Amino acid sequence: MTKALLLAGGLGTRLRPLTETIPKCLVPIAGRPLLDYWVERLAAAGIAEARINTHAHAERVRDYIGSVNASGRLRLVEAHEPELLGSAGTVAANAELADGAESVVIVYADNLSDIDLRPLVDYHRRHEDPLTMVLFRAPDPRACGIVELDAQHRIVSFVEKPEQPKSELANAGLYVLDAAAYRAIAAMGAFDLGFDVLPRFVGRMRGWVWGGYFRDVGTHEALERARHDAAVVFPAATRTGRSVGAGAGRPAVFLDRDGTLIEHVPYLSDPALVRLLPGAAEALVRLRRAGFACVLVTNQSAIGRGMLTVERLEEIHAELDRQLAAHGAALEAVYYCPVAPGGDDRTVVECPDRKPGPGMLLRAAAERRLDLAASWMVGDLVSDVMAGLNAGCRSILVHSGQTTAAAAPPLPGRTLVAADLAAAAEVILSGQ
Ligand SMILES: [Mg+2]
Repeated sequence: MTKALLLAGGLGTRLRPLTETIPKCLVPIAGRPLLDYWVERLAAAGIAEARINTHAHAERVRDYIGSVNASGRLRLVEAHEPELLGSAGTVAANAELADGAESVVIVYADNLSDIDLRPLVDYHRRHEDPLTMVLFRAPDPRACGIVELDAQHRIVSFVEKPEQPKSELANAGLYVLDAAAYRAIAAMGAFDLGFDVLPRFVGRMRGWVWGGYFRDVGTHEALERARHDAAVVFPAATRTGRSVGAGAGRPAVFLDRDGTLIEHVPYLSDPALVRLLPGAAEALVRLRRAGFACVLVTNQSAIGRGMLTVERLEEIHAELDRQLAAHGAALEAVYYCPVAPGGDDRTVVECPDRKPGPGMLLRAAAERRLDLAASWMVGDLVSDVMAGLNAGCRSILVHSGQTTAAAAPPLPGRTLVAADLAAAAEVILSGQ
């Protein structure tokens, strides 16, 4: 069994005056308290019991804890701290949490993330080190705890707020510990996990990189940003998302372009090189007949990189339409994102529209009254798959483009795999 410790006692001084009346862990984001996102993450991973420390405005947090317990989503137990104990001190004060547990997840509830905790806990179970630290790619490594990993993802150095960061991989304030390691930390008499405890685990802890959404909401600016992002990252959790996905709309199949619908040509900029993949047009015809809106969603970083103009892209799509029409097929709409990425990790949401961000799918759903929960995303890259999942759709990875069956990357749990678009259409239609 896995249990959890939610570190939620932070004063939130940088969020004053907001935190003069509510605790930081309950600041509202898209209509829900921040803590609620963590309760949802824990419950979704099958974690049934968690401790939470309280300090400022403890009575407000107590009310929230009562509502969670009444809902049956999770059993939350309050650990009140009249004086803040420090993160390691909170572990010490809750040492018995490890009783009956195989592992303990420790979460700084100051952050907002859409992390899937289940594969994290699985990963921790599979390696032999006593601690796993979740890592994210920090935009400002000097403000974070920065690690270096070896080839086995073992953390070989860890420095808080380094002057000269050796990587951009930063401590996300989320750990999985063996029960024995949790007890050992409780016995240390330390104050802060980051400064006093984690350096002692260098060489015997692993890093788990979360490429999805992660943000510290410690400042007004960061909170505003998180509120903006939440509508996109947590579509099912926000009011706009609910109204879009309420089942009133039509089902759609969102299609990646290169390697899915047409042959993959790196940074395609010549309409003469557009070639439909075998069976792709016929698949569109079948999907449309079955009532699916077929919507193209394509990352076009070539525009952001200055290698392609919007006019040229429109010529390419006119050629694509012409070839589809020759088979009696048509796309209902085309959405593209011109943004060039800063990094090369296809699992990182750098911009809401660029896949793996779900922005294009959400916009299409809002503009065309599509039912995301009844819709699918089909593409040849992990970023396609994640964009679909991030939008609340089901996803299928096809092997007709850049991802071959032999070299498939780790995929999110709910992803299906098919040889090509024709096979993917078969899967979609067989589920009707
Ligand atoms: Mg592609």
